[in-house]
Amino acid sequence: MNTISIAIDGPSGAGKSTLARAAASELGYLYVDTGAIYRTIGYYVLQKGIDPTDSLAVSNALPDIHVELEHGADGLQRMRLSGADVTAQIRLPEVSLAASAVSAHPQVRSFLLEMQRQLARAHDVIMDGRDIGTVVLPKADVKVFLTASDQARARRRCLELEQRGTPEPFEKVLREIQERDWNDTHRAAAPLRQAEDAVLLDTTRLDFRQSLKALLKIIKERV
Ligand code: C5P
Repeated sequence: MNTISIAIDGPSGAGKSTLARAAASELGYLYVDTGAIYRTIGYYVLQKGIDPTDSLAVSNALPDIHVELEHGADGLQRMRLSGADVTAQIRLPEVSLAASAVSAHPQVRSFLLEMQRQLARAHDVIMDGRDIGTVVLPKADVKVFLTASDQARARRRCLELEQRGTPEPFEKVLREIQERDWNDTHRAAAPLRQAEDAVLLDTTRLDFRQSLKALLKIIKERV
């Protein structure tokens, strides 16, 4: 069966997941949040007291990590780690940095590669991440590089954290975003970069509705 794949890459806080989920629901595709998978690995490593930057220790732990994705009828993706639902826990700020650190290890990336490709073979997907258009699905039907200024992304993240009841100071959120941007673009393994055939969508000056409209236009013109 031929399935359709839409790859959305971009830096942290660009609105990838909210927009990709809304677009997937509009188009009837499965939304796959690959950052949540890296977050689950980061969460596991923190729980076990393993240093997320220690490549050997993280690689040695991989065979014990059982990650599953579940998609409910509401389109929400839930993450399970050895059977336990960790969907909420993986959103904590310390897990964001651990996810960024573990994702730099090539062993972690290859451990998760087939799982992501399998989802795209089985379903029409909108998959978001950092290397979907460049590494995971290089033949995706549409590739979008979604970005916004770091200030705009930090403002959005602050709002999100506030709504979740876990507010953080703007300066701290901005610093963490910049740190993750640096990690994600400077690592040797599958660094964040725009694929040559990706369409650039900058949402710095767009609100959610305008961004979604622009994203759907890009997709519909190509599929
Ligand atoms: O997208 P999200 O911010 O949830 O991702 C958490 C971290 O996982 C990112 O900072 C990035 O380091 C890593 N990641 C990745 N490749 C992906 C998705 C996420 O390296 N495809």
